[in-house]
Amino acid sequence: MPPKKKGEEVKKPLLLGRLGTSLKIGIVGLPNVGKSTFFNVLTKSQASAENFPFCTIDPNESRVPVPDERWDFLCKHHKPASKVPAFLAVVDIAGLVKGANEGQGLGNAFLSHISGCDAIFHMTRAFDDDDVTHVEGDVNPLRDMEIIHDELRLKDIEYLSKRLTELEKVFVRGGEKKYKVEYDTFVRIQTMLNDEKKPIRFAEWNEKEVEVLNKHLFLTSKPHIYLVNLSKKDYLRKKNKWLLKISEWVKEHDPGSSIIPFSGALEMELLDMGEEKAEEYLKELKASNALSKIIVTGFKALQLEYFFTAGPDEVKAWTIKLGTKAPQAAGRIHTDMEKGFIMAEVMKFADFKELGSESACKAGGKYRQQGKQYVVDDGDILFIKFNTPSQNKKK
Ligand code: GDP
Repeated sequence: MPPKKKGEEVKKPLLLGRLGTSLKIGIVGLPNVGKSTFFNVLTKSQASAENFPFCTIDPNESRVPVPDERWDFLCKHHKPASKVPAFLAVVDIAGLVKGANEGQGLGNAFLSHISGCDAIFHMTRAFDDDDVTHVEGDVNPLRDMEIIHDELRLKDIEYLSKRLTELEKVFVRGGEKKYKVEYDTFVRIQTMLNDEKKPIRFAEWNEKEVEVLNKHLFLTSKPHIYLVNLSKKDYLRKKNKWLLKISEWVKEHDPGSSIIPFSGALEMELLDMGEEKAEEYLKELKASNALSKIIVTGFKALQLEYFFTAGPDEVKAWTIKLGTKAPQAAGRIHTDMEKGFIMAEVMKFADFKELGSESACKAGGKYRQQGKQYVVDDGDILFIKFNTPSQNKKK
């Protein structure tokens, strides 16, 4: 390995959560807040159902194309035989009720489904409808969000207590030093969850602590995106008596998390119209497309991004973890490309769009050769040069 030049080492981002790119986001909320309606809209939306029939994984899990104008542009430009966007894997998790951590409702099963997800669409109901009963009697998103937070936190405490007892045996009484970091991290988690009543994602963790957290994957370490289900009328007029209160609540209890208002009722109408009419209708009403925003925000919450390979055969978005270097990104395409990696030839999408072609990028000095230390940026257009032991290859 060549010696590292000073300043060359790129600081790796501290990523909380599972490694790899097969990550999922789960829809979590109380019963009757609109989760299944939203899931159906997502999976039946034109792009998913017609163009990508392989999207449905099982009745409760689906892969949804991530909308991206850059990908659209590349497809229009190259008119490729095959078009593959990035996908967000979404899981519809049945309603969580108060006391789920003690087994209420289908308590533990739901919580284990959440455990299998890497981020959470936390759906809350802010629409009134006498025909749709509320499990807690009336509409109150603040109370509902609190219930979900408590259930996840209590489940984490239960897990933590068991492990902490084991750690006390081996580290405190047994004196096995190798458990020190884990023990210290667990004590810190305990203070947060028990005394401060805060989720794990609330705090900053150092590299060693992140390693411990990523071994245990606590429920409250998963990022939340708050989806506020409004009536169609409230969504269109951008007003609802709960919105400000929800925003203040999130600022206090989960700072930095996104809140996205949408309307399940409107989304169902849009679904029936078909994609083009729906676009026109939204334009007429001067309303934005909540679904696109939700999918893109969900994808980012998983700490994922993608690069493109683009040509007349195929335009494809390749999903990678934030901070991935060029050889590992190449490995997403084929393991040989990682093993025999020579270089990545990189165009920035903005340059390609502005200059109009690969040759114009080359002429303009915007086609760069990058080595093993290059950290791939979201939206880069890559061409990997690599060789295999038996032959030199170019792809
Ligand atoms: P889940 O239990 O959270 O999955 O909720 P569902 O998606 O099954 O929705 C429960 C009921 O609320 C259904 O009858 C839906 O038609 C209705 N619903 C969902 N979204 C909306 C909405 O935005 N407005 C109104 N009025 N009803 C909705």
